[in-house]
Amino acid sequence: MALTAIIEEHGGSDKLKLVDLEVGEPGPGEIRIAHKACGLNFIDIYQRSGLYPMELPHALGMEAAGVIEAVGEGVTHLRPGDRAAYAAMPPGAYTEARVMPAAQLCPLPEAISFDEGAAMMLQGMTVEYLFHRTTPLKAGDTVLFHAAAGGVGLIACQWAKSEGIHLIGTAGSDEKCQLALDHGAEHCINYSTEDFTARVKELTDGKGVDVVMDSVGKDTFMGSLDCLKPLGMMISFGNATGPVDAFNLGILAQKGSIKVTRPTLFAHTADPATCQEMARHLFDKVASGAVKIRIDQRFPLAEVAKAHDALEARKTTGSTILEL
Ligand code: NDP
Repeated sequence: MALTAIIEEHGGSDKLKLVDLEVGEPGPGEIRIAHKACGLNFIDIYQRSGLYPMELPHALGMEAAGVIEAVGEGVTHLRPGDRAAYAAMPPGAYTEARVMPAAQLCPLPEAISFDEGAAMMLQGMTVEYLFHRTTPLKAGDTVLFHAAAGGVGLIACQWAKSEGIHLIGTAGSDEKCQLALDHGAEHCINYSTEDFTARVKELTDGKGVDVVMDSVGKDTFMGSLDCLKPLGMMISFGNATGPVDAFNLGILAQKGSIKVTRPTLFAHTADPATCQEMARHLFDKVASGAVKIRIDQRFPLAEVAKAHDALEARKTTGSTILEL
């Protein structure tokens, strides 16, 4: 049996419920993993609230790290006793142990702790595809990155610096801005007190940035479009303030043939070989010291509702894990 956090209906953090679930044996293509820690992500909030609907009841959680206990027929890249970590569908990582498809589990190098593995897979592989797969980025390019002091944000600040990419961050307080600067952002705009669009124009001598990476969504989307150079790329990859409103495509022409895309991590990791390649790239960045995983909040699994409340109320910085 495994203590597991589930929801039976969508809603607030009060809908999270702890239950004991049978774990079972892995079938073909599956593994059983005993978790050492699981990661908390903003997507968990969208799934809990119903913004991203799912069949109910359902366990939540998209990433964890632990030790493989058993492998099903046909699984060759992992063996019982191996350390492993993942960011994967279907949700269900908020648990002590589970049976799940093996393809998206990655062997976790000894140099990376279980806590780091649990904290970084989803956020780190997201940064990997944003910087290397969504649009070609090169040293010298300038990126505007919203929510730069969050989990994805602090990894992005360090990743950009390691690639010679100029990153202008935004964050909701002066303290958060300082954190982004300490992790490699060249500038950070407190968008609670400053007009980020005007400030980006100032910082870029009126030219704008090559790429905007915007996970804040509804509240920042239109302002973000105004920060782009002609032919620039808007990557809208989240909705912390709500889904982006519909808009007239003609705006993209008026603003200088700018482009917009709305990518997801799981479209990038659907191919198992690509998923393993992305994870290795992330592990290399962390093992080399170029990217440090900052775990600023830890909650016992039993206090998962408090963890959701903190993330939703913008009280967290860096990554958050649930301890088991
Ligand atoms: P964060 O740690 O970044 O937390 C979200 C941050 O968003 C907050 O800390 C806050 O920072 C900012 N924010 C601004 N407005 C609000 C608001 N009204 N309510 C809550 N937060 C707000 O979370 P994650 O690192 O887990 O994820 C970052 C974003 O990236 C999320 O939107 C997530 O959905 C998205 N994402 C998308 C993926 C994809 O592939 N499409 C994959 C992974 C993540 P501040 O106070 O500084 O404004």
